[in-house]
Amino acid sequence: MNAPNVSGWRPAMGEGGGEGAPIVTTSGDRGLSLEEPLIFELGRAGTCGVDLDEVDTPVVPGLARFLRAAPPALPGLTEPETVRHYTRLSRQNYAIDLGPFPLGSCTMKHNPRLNEKVARLPGFADIHPLQPQHTVRGAIGVIAELAHWLVTLTGMSAVAMTPKAGAHGELCGLLCIRAALEARGDARQVVLVPESAHGTNPATAAFAGYRVENIPATAEGRVDLAALTARLGPDVAAVMITNPNTCGLFERDMKAISDAVHSAGGLVYCDGANFNAIVGKVRPGDLGIDAMHINLHKTFSTPHGGGGPGSGPVVLSAALAPFAPLPFALRGPDGIIRLVEEEDAPVHHPQSFGRMAAFHGQMGMFTRALAYILSHGADGLRQVAEDAVLNANYVLRSLEDLLDAPFAGAGPCMHEALFSDSGFAEGFSTLDLAKGLIDEGFHPMTVYFPLVVHGAMLIEPTETESKAGLDRFIGSMRSLAERARAGDPGLKSAPHLVPRRRLDETQAARKPVLVWPEA
Ligand SMILES: *Cc1c(COP(=O)(O)O)cnc(C)c1O
Repeated sequence: MNAPNVSGWRPAMGEGGGEGAPIVTTSGDRGLSLEEPLIFELGRAGTCGVDLDEVDTPVVPGLARFLRAAPPALPGLTEPETVRHYTRLSRQNYAIDLGPFPLGSCTMKHNPRLNEKVARLPGFADIHPLQPQHTVRGAIGVIAELAHWLVTLTGMSAVAMTPKAGAHGELCGLLCIRAALEARGDARQVVLVPESAHGTNPATAAFAGYRVENIPATAEGRVDLAALTARLGPDVAAVMITNPNTCGLFERDMKAISDAVHSAGGLVYCDGANFNAIVGKVRPGDLGIDAMHINLHKTFSTPHGGGGPGSGPVVLSAALAPFAPLPFALRGPDGIIRLVEEEDAPVHHPQSFGRMAAFHGQMGMFTRALAYILSHGADGLRQVAEDAVLNANYVLRSLEDLLDAPFAGAGPCMHEALFSDSGFAEGFSTLDLAKGLIDEGFHPMTVYFPLVVHGAMLIEPTETESKAGLDRFIGSMRSLAERARAGDPGLKSAPHLVPRRRLDETQAARKPVLVWPEA
């Protein structure tokens, strides 16, 4: 077992051990903060969780060449050792069930337990996508009812339910746009994307075969309508606009943008990942949008991040609905809701661009999202948006005297508050403040995004944090902001109170070590 690096660690105030004396333990554990090596370091050859009988089955001739020559390189552990290994690791995690997750743009809200109960009902959880449709009418009904809510909440014509994440939904929307343009014999090449866009927007446009061009932002953080209009022309297939945008501001010119794009023959894609801020208040269909993905895992509270699955249904305007992917749920003349698949398409949906997924979408996300929608009701969903915006403005106004808030002068923000590193002492950065937040027991906010602000810190509290919870977070942020302004060297080397200190994140992302060297 590797000895943990305890240098630089000092007991927190009020702990024993004497002022400044580092506590070094024999085990490497510190009280209930447990050190844990890799499972391969822990395992021993010849150890196994179960007793296996010697195999006396004769080898089938012809299969002998598939016999293993050497034992598999599995870590040898008993069952209790294995359970403890993963439980210890899980305790080093931060989770939304432990505290706030202020990641801007990610909408990490509480996941109501009712959703989990509904998703685990055997009639939803234990069905198979290849079951005959007449045995899963209830599940298909859930897809149809959720689809109805999404279309109603957004004021659009149709919805493609199968995309499995926001980015997948973007691709679905752009493929609908491409199909619509091709249907009218129009080979436009360019997609315009504002410079504050989430990285998935330009990546999706490029993946769909378009050339991406940036549109600048105004000094107050919104799309520059004049610059956009000036760039429109017969080569522009679509614009992709995020609304509310990633500076946490509502794009007030959205209708004017849509009208200008449409009159130049293009189509309007809206990145709807921030729908949490406007659900129940604004219908994107009224703003002239042709396609918009909704992140069920953000707005409608299904667990995500760290491996939780996503779901990115795409709502479509009447112009794009005929090109939507298969399958989709349709109520027949007999009143029964069925999935329209390839064999039905020639009659029911001849212009579909094809499929986005093998089956019908993320059933577990559908059940959770519908449970969330039905338990809130239409008025409750409106309150989600109001409280999310209220909480973000509370954070903005509670910090703006200590942290530079570049767009705060223009009025209230939407569901997230944006700050910059301006005013920090020489040599201190956003990264230092984010690392300090870990010592304070919080997950850091989104850092260095959006790119339009230097050293950006994007904080999204969501509506599920209480005022008391926000006040605790604000207290920590104020103290860290003061330390960054004063140039406290302790902040420069934060975090101090965690099992691992500053990691080389670039190296980890660029050259990850994914194989145990002795395997
Ligand atoms: C989260 C997010 C996306 C991408 O959604 P995924 O489900 O992670 O693919 C796109 N745009 C914005 C603004 C987002 O916040």
